[in-house]
Amino acid sequence: MKVGIPRAFLYYKYHYLWESFLEELGIEYVVSPYTNREIYQQGTIYAIDEACLSSKIYLGHVASLLGKCDYILVPRVFGFGEDGSVCTKFQAIYDVVNNTFRNQKIKILYYNINPKETANEFRSFLKMGKFLGKKKAQITRAYLIAKQNQKVNQLMDMKRQESLLEKDGMKILLVGHPYNVYDRYIGDPIIQYLKSLEVTPIIADLCDKKAAREASFQVSETLPWAFNRELVGAIEIYRKKIDGIILMSSFPCGPDSLVNEIILRRIKGIPILNLVLDGQDGSAGLETRLESFIDIIKIKRDEKDED
Ligand code: SF4
Repeated sequence: MKVGIPRAFLYYKYHYLWESFLEELGIEYVVSPYTNREIYQQGTIYAIDEACLSSKIYLGHVASLLGKCDYILVPRVFGFGEDGSVCTKFQAIYDVVNNTFRNQKIKILYYNINPKETANEFRSFLKMGKFLGKKKAQITRAYLIAKQNQKVNQLMDMKRQESLLEKDGMKILLVGHPYNVYDRYIGDPIIQYLKSLEVTPIIADLCDKKAAREASFQVSETLPWAFNRELVGAIEIYRKKIDGIILMSSFPCGPDSLVNEIILRRIKGIPILNLVLDGQDGSAGLETRLESFIDIIKIKRDEKDED
């Protein structure tokens, strides 16, 4: 049996957990390739026009896995923690995928998390493991090892970022969902371009999540989306160590458009660039905006030094 994992959406949050869980159970898996033009185009063919760019890319990844595995891991997630909600896309994507690819007779691996009901993460993994034909003791062991592996790797990622914050030179905080920031087609070109300008990109998603969720209340007490809370809180935690902020969201994202507006109104005293990614061809316009943004920060810095 082989499991396919789309390299999109929650993969970027949970890949350590998912991959090591399957490895511990001895289940073979394949991760879809990095997003490329073909995957993006496939996604736009399968998705409805109104879908956000990130969910179009997700469908492209699912399409790229068809015929390459027996089951595809498509999580259905209703909430996060005790009272955090998530974008409705994470609740709906299971059904969207099921319906979109019904003619291809897609088979989806069970993964259903609803912390407000009984389907917490461990129970969900238990069901997934049973679905894969494994015994309870083996599944429990695999889950605990995978959790530990996720924790250690996330800690290492966080530490690596902490050391970048100590470096000299300009640092820009990238505030966006990891599936946008790390995506090779839409987010990574921005990271690479900043590096080419000798700017160190700091990723909001690599901040201590618990501390970020707590810090987010200083910006807004009423934000409903847990993942956005982590990003907003990262701004509070890092703001004294960075020179500017780039908000990266995909078109047309409901939660981000509201949250970015709050950020723009409430975070003062630091330059902010609001980028809405639409997957269109050509990076010239984007590079010009990035370059101007960096130039403005440099000019302001020089003016300050002269005073
Ligand atoms: S949060 Fe925005 S980008 Fe992410 S799935 Fe929802 S609408 Fe799409």
